[in-house]
Amino acid sequence: MSNGSSLPPHRRLRGTLLVVLAAVLAAGLGGWLIWHSSRGDGGPRAGQPAPSDPAGHPTGPGGKDSTGHGARGSLKGKVVVLDPGHNPHNNEHGREIARQVDIGNARKECDTTGTATNDGYAEASFTLDLARRARTLLQKEGAKVVLTQDGDRPYGPCVDERAEIGNKAHADAALSLHADGSGAGNRGFHVILPARVTAGPADTATIVGPSRQLGERLAGRFRTVTGSAVSNYIGDGTGLDKRSDLGGLNLSTVPKVFIECGNMRDAKDAAQLTDARWRQKAARGITEGITDFLAH
Ligand code: ZN
Repeated sequence: MSNGSSLPPHRRLRGTLLVVLAAVLAAGLGGWLIWHSSRGDGGPRAGQPAPSDPAGHPTGPGGKDSTGHGARGSLKGKVVVLDPGHNPHNNEHGREIARQVDIGNARKECDTTGTATNDGYAEASFTLDLARRARTLLQKEGAKVVLTQDGDRPYGPCVDERAEIGNKAHADAALSLHADGSGAGNRGFHVILPARVTAGPADTATIVGPSRQLGERLAGRFRTVTGSAVSNYIGDGTGLDKRSDLGGLNLSTVPKVFIECGNMRDAKDAAQLTDARWRQKAARGITEGITDFLAH
């Protein structure tokens, strides 16, 4: 059929259908208007879907989802190197870790034993546990995570090798984990940024800027997630320090910072550092800080 004008009954039927359709639409619109106006201010209420970020991940205050984590998979394609400071077996290898290595502007011992709480919980045990917890969380975000040691070496590695591992992995972010051994009453965490060092094998010119970005975001998230205060003895209340005497920073060619998570020699800080639940929070703060740096 090439021309419908010769079939008036069908045209009448079509007209009736259009009227019915219009009535249904009007009723639907009215119902929607009544429902909409009953919502009061029109803002989100309990049970309403949370606002989403551009990738469609649910977000809450600060861009975090309801679990406090970043968007899942937000670190896909990123390489993170975690450097658990010291080694639980360094104290059995005094001669090896005393060997001097070139850190650019000086020569320094290969590695050190690290500190411990007054009750004997070693910094090296703390850093390894924290690194493993953070690795799990970072991997959940899609990151490739490399540890400089995983309890699989008799000692060390030396500080120059710790830096080299991050460089060879082409890390998008590298983080050395520590806890301090200062006097009782000195409390809180701080992040150590690389100073500008250009000497011998050290050249931090290209990493000073991005490392500061990493450090600021890490300090911010670590503080929020753990509820810990920034150091009351280093950094003038900023939680940030800058040093030129650390081989792990001097020799890095990728963005890198250290974090001193607390003071093992202070009883209140030690109570946190020895608490597995607090270490899990610390791992989450680290993960969120790195995610904040890499995913935005
Ligand atoms: Zn340390």
